[in-house]
Amino acid sequence: MVINAANLIVVATALPLLMGQRLSWAAGSARASLMVQALGWVAILFSGLWAGRWQDLLLSTFAIACFCGGQWFMFEAMRGWLGPRRGRTLLLALVVLTPIGYALSFQVYPGRVGWANFMIAAQLLMVAQSTLSPGTSLGVRWRWAVFGSALTMAGFTAARGVLGAFLTDLYPTFWTPHPVNVGATIATNVTLVLSSVAVLVAWRGEAEAQLREQAFRDSLTGLTNRKGWDELAKSAFDQARRHGYALSLLMVDLDHFKRINDSHGHDVGDQVLRMFGKLIRDTHRSGDLVARIGGEEFALLLPQTDQAGALLFEQRLRQGLQRACAEQVSLNVNYSAGLACLQGGDASLTDLMVRADTALYRAKDLGRGASNWRADR
Ligand code: GH3
Ligand code: MG
Ligand code: MG
Repeated sequence: MVINAANLIVVATALPLLMGQRLSWAAGSARASLMVQALGWVAILFSGLWAGRWQDLLLSTFAIACFCGGQWFMFEAMRGWLGPRRGRTLLLALVVLTPIGYALSFQVYPGRVGWANFMIAAQLLMVAQSTLSPGTSLGVRWRWAVFGSALTMAGFTAARGVLGAFLTDLYPTFWTPHPVNVGATIATNVTLVLSSVAVLVAWRGEAEAQLREQAFRDSLTGLTNRKGWDELAKSAFDQARRHGYALSLLMVDLDHFKRINDSHGHDVGDQVLRMFGKLIRDTHRSGDLVARIGGEEFALLLPQTDQAGALLFEQRLRQGLQRACAEQVSLNVNYSAGLACLQGGDASLTDLMVRADTALYRAKDLGRGASNWRADR
């Protein structure tokens, strides 16, 4: 038991310390889960060494609270990494009630051992369940390690509860070398290592997702950049074609932007771009894809939107830009836009982009400050 506890404490303390600071909510929760459980093991060790009744009550209740807290934090980590999870309130109730019930029934050995083990087994089952149905499909295979660990420990913990509550003679103390107890101890060691590995892999996946997100985002405006556009717009196009719904593409280019830079400075130019980016973000609907694909060029892909809808959207955007620029930088900024709508003959996104681009050039030729949907030059 001592070697086991030493092992657990080292793994559960070293890993979190190595993870460093500035962790996400999920990674921080996973770390807290491991640390709190290590603390529980320290308390268990001391409660075994210290024979006093009060010390035993306090330390073992504290240890139970730590194990419950560990399940809570692991559930929170799953919530952070896998998306909203069901049963959070129920788990919180179990986590709070378990140590209270344990302390209240401390005088009755079968009662307290049965209560604590069954309640912790239930929490472990909820953690196992929380790894199912992830909100994302991106590299979450690590969740099976958490699932297997939680399920295994739920089994051993419930078996401990049965022994303590109903076969008390076979299991008079936590330290009894009963096969279930020995098995539980080995399983604790193995599953702790397994869940630590899972936490590390999940944490790496999180970092990868962050890098990917950064690579696809334009830092000035916060919109999707050209690279992100190329990837995301293609799948939006394919989907619209497959399901046969309307799709409109707007290409927007700010007019005489070089002049703004030249006469007011690059910083004001940047400010206008940021303002326009925010305006686009505030104006578009949730399914739309909006990107800054060049210096002062933006592309907006509007699914389930026909020509009339796209022109209405474009009008709102133009009014918004003129109002915002007049208010915030006392400048008159306008843009030209080219519009193209999905047609039966469009084989790829490129066809749509070429038409929108040509319409945009025509809008420039026609005197700027307006949108155009005719692609014949
Ligand atoms: P047109 O009406 O024909 O589009 O004229 P324009 O001046 O907008 O077009 P042009 O392509 O000649 O110039 C685009 C300008 O946009 C030039 C470049 O300095 C500026 N620009 C591109 N990226 C940025 C940026 O990130 N910040 C700032 N401040 N300016 C940028
Ligand atoms: Mg341009
Ligand atoms: Mg321009």
